Amino acid sequence: MTYLLPIGGEWLQTETTDTIRLPYDDSPIAEVPQGNPALVDRAVSAARAAAAILENWTNYQRAELLDRIAALLRRDRTGFANAVSSETGKPITEARAEVDRGLQTLLASSIAARELHGEVVPIDAAPTGAGRLAMTIRQPLGVIGIITPFNFPLNLTLHKLGPALAGGNAVVHKPSEQTPLSALMLARIVQEAGAPAGAYNVVTGPGETVGSALVESPGVDMITFTGSVPVGRAIRARAGLKKVTLELGGNGAVIIEPDADLDAAVPRVVQGGYGYSGQSCISVQRVYVHESIAANFRDRLVAAVEKLNVGHPAEETSQIASLITVQAAERVEQWTRQAAQAGAKILTGGDRTRATIRPGILTEVPEDSRFMREELFGPLVAVNAYRDLDRAIELVNGTSYGLQAGIYTQHLQRAFQAAQKIRAGGVLINDVPTFRADLMPYGGTKESGLGREGPRYAVQEMTEPKLICWHA
Ligand code: NAD
Repeated sequence: MTYLLPIGGEWLQTETTDTIRLPYDDSPIAEVPQGNPALVDRAVSAARAAAAILENWTNYQRAELLDRIAALLRRDRTGFANAVSSETGKPITEARAEVDRGLQTLLASSIAARELHGEVVPIDAAPTGAGRLAMTIRQPLGVIGIITPFNFPLNLTLHKLGPALAGGNAVVHKPSEQTPLSALMLARIVQEAGAPAGAYNVVTGPGETVGSALVESPGVDMITFTGSVPVGRAIRARAGLKKVTLELGGNGAVIIEPDADLDAAVPRVVQGGYGYSGQSCISVQRVYVHESIAANFRDRLVAAVEKLNVGHPAEETSQIASLITVQAAERVEQWTRQAAQAGAKILTGGDRTRATIRPGILTEVPEDSRFMREELFGPLVAVNAYRDLDRAIELVNGTSYGLQAGIYTQHLQRAFQAAQKIRAGGVLINDVPTFRADLMPYGGTKESGLGREGPRYAVQEMTEPKLICWHA
C-alpha cells in the first residue's frame, strides 16, 4: 500500500520518507512520507477552512458522520488490525481488540454529539436579572491539534478525533513516528464518510520539529496530547494560551487483600500486567499483596505467567511479542537488573532477545528503585507484601503518578476506604487498574495528566459555552 499525507482533502507525497519497521524483527513494512513544519502550516490552514464548515453542522449531521466512519472501520476491520499489529508489534489478537475498542469510541462519540447541549441559566436569581432569560450553547473551539503515542495508535487517535468532530472542530494530527500507518488509513475512511476536506489532516514526522510546529501554531486552538511526562511538560510550556489536555504516564498498582478472590485476581493481573507486553499507561506494574496470602498468590502468578506464549505478532497463538524498540527493551532489562542488584528477587522471566522480553515477576523490590517509582512499560510485575491496608494505600500513592489503581477485597468498607484515599483518576474495586471502557471518564491526577477523556467528557473540553442573554 502507498501511504500519502492527507492534507486539505489532497493526498501529498513528500521529498523525504521514513521506513516503518516491524518492531519484532526490524523488517521493513512500509514507506511513509515525512512531514515538516511547512506542511503543518498548510494543514492548519486547511483545518481552519473545514472548521468554518463544521461549526455550522448540526449535532445530527456530526453524529451521522461519526456513525458512517464507524461503519467503514467495521468494514475494514481486518486491514486496520493488520496495520496496527505491524506498526506496534502487538499480537494480532490484541490489534483486533483495539479496532473493536475504536468502534466503541466512535459509537460513544456519536452519542456525545447527539447529546451535546448547553443549559438554561437561572438569570433572574440575580438582583439585576429581572426581565431577562439566559442560556448557554456549546460552541466548537475550532482547530484541535492532536499528538499521539505509539502504543494504541488507532484507539487513542479516535479518543481525540471522535469528540473533536462531535463538537464541530477540525483536526491536525501528529501521530507517533513509529506508528503512523493506522492514522493514514483512518484519513481515507473519514474522507469516504463525507467529512469536509481538511476536517482530518495528518502530518507525520519527528516530535521535535513537526510536533513543536503544531504546538506553537497560532492557528491551533487546543492541543490534546497523549504520551510521556517529559514531552507533556514541554508541550504545556510551549503552547502559550492554547487550551491543553494531557494524558500522561502511570505505574499502575493493585492491592490484594487477604479475602481477595484469587481465582479472579490472578488471571486479571496476568492480563493487566502482560497485555501488549506491559506497554499501556494503566498496565499493572506494582502488586501489593497481603503477607498472609503472598506466597500462595506469587506461586499462582508464576505458574500463570510461565504459560504465556511468546512469539511473532502475526501468530494467532502469540500473547507476548516485542516491545516497540530494542532500546526500550534494553531499558527495561537495565531497570530489572538494577532492582535485582538492590535486593529484588526475580521469580521468573526478565531476559531479553532483541526487542522481546520474557514475561517476568519480581518480589521484594525496593520501593525507591526506578522499577517501582517510574513507568516501566515492559512485561514485568513487582509483587511486594504488606501487613496493613493503610500502609499499602500509602505505597500506592507514593509515586508521582496517579492514573488508575485497583483493590481486590470482599470487604465493602475497606474497598471504599481505599477508593477514597487513593489519589488517582480512577479506582477499580475487584479489578486491575488496566480496565478501561471507552465511554468512561478517563485521565490522571498528579503527573499522570490534565483533563479527562471518554467522548462525553472530551467533547466538553473541546467545546466552550457561549452565553446568550435576552432582555425583554
Ligand atoms: P512520547 O511522549 O515519546 O511521544 C508521544 C508523541 O509526542 C509522539 O507523537 C512524539 O512524536 C511526540 N513528541 C515528542 N516530542 C515532542 C515535542 N517536543 N513536541 C510535540 N510533540 C512531541 O510517548 P511514547 O513513547 O510514544 O508513548 C508512551 C507514553 O505514552 C507512556 O508514557 C505512556 O504512559 C503514555 N500513554 C498515556 C496514555 C494515557 O491515556 N494516559 C495512554 C497511552 C500512552
